[in-house]
Amino acid sequence: MKYDSVIIGGGLSGLAAGIRLAHFGQKVCIFEKHTRIGGLNSYYQRKGFNLESGLHAMTNFAPKTGAKALPLSKLLRQLRIPYDTLKLREQNYSQIRFPSKTLRFSNDFSEFEASVADKFPKQADNFIRFNEYIRGYNEVSLTDKYVSAKEVMASFLDDEQLCDMILCPLMYYGSAVEDDMDFSQFVIMYKSIFFEGFCRPVGNGILEILDTLEERYTESGGELRLGCGIAGVVSKDGKAVELITTKGETIQANRILSSAGNIETLNLCDTKPAGFESLPTGELGYLETLAIGGDYLDQFGNDQTITFFSETDKFRYKKPKGPYDLTSGVICFPHNFQFEVGDTPVDKTIRITALANYEHWIGKEKSEYKELKAKATTEVFKLAEKLTGIQKIEKNAQLIDTITPKTILNYTGHIHGSIYGSPHKVKDGKTHLDNLFICGTDQGFLGITGAMLSGISMANLHLLR
Ligand SMILES: Cc1cc2nc3c(=O)[nH]c(=O)nc-3n(C[C@H](O)[C@H](O)[C@H](O)COP(=O)(O)OP(=O)(O)OC[C@H]3O[C@@H](n4cnc5c(N)ncnc54)[C@H](O)[C@@H]3O)c2cc1C
Repeated sequence: MKYDSVIIGGGLSGLAAGIRLAHFGQKVCIFEKHTRIGGLNSYYQRKGFNLESGLHAMTNFAPKTGAKALPLSKLLRQLRIPYDTLKLREQNYSQIRFPSKTLRFSNDFSEFEASVADKFPKQADNFIRFNEYIRGYNEVSLTDKYVSAKEVMASFLDDEQLCDMILCPLMYYGSAVEDDMDFSQFVIMYKSIFFEGFCRPVGNGILEILDTLEERYTESGGELRLGCGIAGVVSKDGKAVELITTKGETIQANRILSSAGNIETLNLCDTKPAGFESLPTGELGYLETLAIGGDYLDQFGNDQTITFFSETDKFRYKKPKGPYDLTSGVICFPHNFQFEVGDTPVDKTIRITALANYEHWIGKEKSEYKELKAKATTEVFKLAEKLTGIQKIEKNAQLIDTITPKTILNYTGHIHGSIYGSPHKVKDGKTHLDNLFICGTDQGFLGITGAMLSGISMANLHLLR
């Protein structure tokens, strides 16, 4: 079989790239090793509930009018998806909660500015200058080298706690680097969370997005092979000449775009680039615990959409020594968006994210793994009760579940089950093979919107020229 382009992986970046290529008449096929699309942000059924593996919120909200230049508007245009298809609803408000201070923000940036001025009055002018700098910064340059976000922040803001409070949501939603970020990545995340904000599609959340993408892709002529992975890439004279599928078929393609991760993709190749052995693997894993709680969850007055918390004023974002670290994390209520009368109701749910260390989760005996997961789940709920005032979450839940680094490894193949992949990002998407390119997590645009933008930009740059 011969294709113009083959895409490895049917996550959000692969699907978005596939749509672009299919729109331009290419014979394109997406190979997804699982029987379901979505990758890191997919869905599953349990006890009659449709559960999302990840979705808290979509970043990069853009209103329907007057926002043509914003990333989400551009993305929808490039994928030819009408704005109203996804029926996006904005967040209520979110907060960054540290022991001595809480900051509040919404999709109206002035609320965040006012909150910073209120809690850090001495930093108000510095914060305005910092925001001006961020607004003018070109974060999507494909050639920028790593710059420490902490160092840039310190040149504008001289309050370490404010810096930590700003970093907390940005790291949790997009850093593969421990205790710091690449400044370009910082700006991408800052704009997407604080300037643009959070939203959620009405109905079945991620399923609505995935259904829309799959429909757009297949109706444009794209081919989707589910349950069929790529097991090997054969090269000759610096070019990929053949792909071998997990079913033993041989496929040819002029160009290949892989969303499997950089090292993961190079592992498939029969030749490796110089320096391959020293490429850093992703170390940061998450626990993602959820409880579907029905109306019970509403009885404790929590109307916030997302709380990013740290139990210490000095925020740590580091691989924990033990199996998990509950000194910081994220609490999300996916039903706390500005839904309208007539919208399909979202199951009332609390989701909690915390850092986890894969070494304690991967390769464990089944019974030991189950025991650890149950213990972690109980402790996570205890912490959530303390932070939200909700009583007896586990006892009153209709359904609980926890995703660990092992789940992520099993369902996506990302080494160590690391959500944001390797700290080394391949911004230009190039590999040692002329016609093999990287998109998605390891290209450097993270999150749902970021992954789709990565797929589109790499397809435009390398596969449509
Ligand atoms: C628990 C959790 C919560 C999250 N919450 C949010 C959120 O609220 N908002 C947000 O914006 N983002 C969130 N994210 C992040 C977001 O889901 C990801 O950044 C994004 O989905 C990454 O998409 P991707 O296409 O780059 O990679 P992936 O989703 O990893 O897709 C790669 C695909 O490639 C497939 N694959 C791998 N190897 C092969 C092979 N050899 N052959 C064929 N197929 C292969 C995998 O099965 C996978 O489907 C969350 C992630 C997780 C895990």
